[in-house]
Amino acid sequence: MSADHPHLAERLIVKPSSKVSLHEADANESHGYTKDTAAKPTLDDLARLTSLQERLFAEQKHPILVVLQGIDTSGKDGTIRHVMSALNPQGCWIAGFGVPTAVESAHDYLWRIHAQTPANGEIVVFNRSHYESVLVVRVHDLVPEAQWRPRFAQINAFEELLAAEGTTIVKFFLHIDRDEQRQRLQARYDDPTKHWKFKMGDLEERKRWDDYTAAYEDVLSRCSTDAAPWYVVPANRKWFRNLAIGEILADRLEALKPEYPVVELPPNLVIA
Ligand code: AMP
Ligand code: MG
Repeated sequence: MSADHPHLAERLIVKPSSKVSLHEADANESHGYTKDTAAKPTLDDLARLTSLQERLFAEQKHPILVVLQGIDTSGKDGTIRHVMSALNPQGCWIAGFGVPTAVESAHDYLWRIHAQTPANGEIVVFNRSHYESVLVVRVHDLVPEAQWRPRFAQINAFEELLAAEGTTIVKFFLHIDRDEQRQRLQARYDDPTKHWKFKMGDLEERKRWDDYTAAYEDVLSRCSTDAAPWYVVPANRKWFRNLAIGEILADRLEALKPEYPVVELPPNLVIA
């Protein structure tokens, strides 16, 4: 944040019980910033994150859970590369959730999720999450509606439990539009060094753009709570995405006021 810019958290948060329409949310929005004016605050926020995380880790009091969701190519991996560059890998890790294994599928959908939630002093970033159980699962009819529909309330209750037990939960939806996805997929296809990221299956998913949009709108409208708010981050511009996520995360950590623990030591000690 700077004097002429409001907190992005206030701009991007989904107010509990509000109805989200992604067609009305401009994925190019940059809230008055340009790439140039965003550069310094972005670096400042990363520095702020570095210092906050060190105190958080030393203090061992607060678990932090960051959830990243977004359609294919929305920038989840890029966000991790950028934001995590500010964090000490000690005390911070990524949990990626792909297609459930046989063992995971034999359990309820929160089983593998709960196993990866952060402990005191840790920051865990979910690259995809329990929300896939009301996104890909819904779009592909992997379970009947009678089973996925109650999951919105179950997820809210699960997150409320984590929050009540002390976890800070910050959920980012990376919002790109359909044309941006087309360009990013094309760029992956055209660049041999990006082929490893190019999945033919992503083209099939792209055909279901409208279904995913509807599913995401439900997630954002039903599961943004005081305990665990969603932030809709305009993500066509990677520099704005990085600015917004860095700032919001740093603000949320700062609100916890993490402090180095005060340790009682004998006075006038001279180490021989
Ligand atoms: P990626 O994030 O590109 O590595 O892809 C992970 C894949 O796992 C995506 O296609 C997700 O849709 C899929 N996935 C994640 N969670 C689930 C789930 N609960 N059920 C089915 N597929 C999932
Ligand atoms: Mg993918």
